[in-house]
Amino acid sequence: MIPLVDIKTEYEQLKNELNRAILDVLESSYFILGPEGEKLEKEISQYIGVSHALGVANGTDALLLCLEALNIGSGDEVITTPFTFFATAEVIARVGATPVFVDIDPKTYNMNPELIESVITEKTKAIIVVHLFGQSVDMDAIMTISNKYNLRVIEDACQSIGASYRGKKVGSFGDFGCFSFFPSKNLGAYGDGGMIVTNNSDLFSKLKLLRNHGSSERYVHTDIGLNSRLDEIQAAILRVKFKRLDEWNNRRKELAENYSLELADTVKVPVEAEDREHVYHQYCIETSQREKLAQFLEQKEIATGIYYPIPLHLQQAFIHLGYKNDHFPVSEGCAKRILALPINPMMTQKQQDYIIAAIKEFFGD
Ligand SMILES: *Cc1c(COP(=O)(O)O)cnc(C)c1O
Repeated sequence: MIPLVDIKTEYEQLKNELNRAILDVLESSYFILGPEGEKLEKEISQYIGVSHALGVANGTDALLLCLEALNIGSGDEVITTPFTFFATAEVIARVGATPVFVDIDPKTYNMNPELIESVITEKTKAIIVVHLFGQSVDMDAIMTISNKYNLRVIEDACQSIGASYRGKKVGSFGDFGCFSFFPSKNLGAYGDGGMIVTNNSDLFSKLKLLRNHGSSERYVHTDIGLNSRLDEIQAAILRVKFKRLDEWNNRRKELAENYSLELADTVKVPVEAEDREHVYHQYCIETSQREKLAQFLEQKEIATGIYYPIPLHLQQAFIHLGYKNDHFPVSEGCAKRILALPINPMMTQKQQDYIIAAIKEFFGD
């Protein structure tokens, strides 16, 4: 089977270095909040081009902690996209606020900035933008709106580490940028992990307290926080992989370019919007024959994925928000047609050629 992600080959390639890094942590006896985590924070903040980075337990907690640091909760509204992983909106509800969805741009699958102003109310406190599949949201448009209405901006960059907009890395535009190191992400740990970046020193201090039980001094607690830390073993693993991130993202771009050249006449291929560098966490095509194509490819031992089959406004968990079918036609349409093809830095040209040939065979091209 050609897998969507190939964590095994990646491990085999870096085995000695990864094993060494893990053993060094075991021998150091530092497991929570130690030198590896601090070094990774420094490396990531430099890479993204921000003043601060903070390791946390996972990408979901990264988003949650940002809302907590901004004191967003009951009675507040947060605008986001319905076409994303559940966690983006889950954290809004988790802090007691209300997720308010706006539909997406059919070209980029990202939140359509033109639709935002019409849902802003007195209660609106923030916008969580999602840089979906590896491509940046139109950040100029978002920052113009947020400045005009004095709204906070949290960037869910969990799928887009390394992507940029007008030469600046995603995560560096809003009040906060959030990253996930879930194993299948472009930079993946061997377990859970996450990171928050910010240029705001006050908010950074607050986040630092919140991730560690509201405490900056042992057994002294000034805030109600939580336990959400990136452990040293994961940080050490991530530091080994981080050195390859740009190289791996470049390989993803190369694979995406090949796919698009070969498949553009057969299916709808991803659109790279102007001034954006896409890092192809997913390579998604659209076809009205999605189910049959997926089945055909499975018979040929090619894995595919559907991101995402049910937009968030139609999820059972959000039924109380009162959204109905046809509320967000672009998201609903994409959810029915979209199909992710294997794209990962370990993929060989032979594998990709085989996938392309199989898709052409299905469509009789
Ligand atoms: C993966 C992901 C998350 C959650 O990250 P975890 O580390 O799994 O908690 C949030 N938002 C988006 C868009 C994601 O892709």
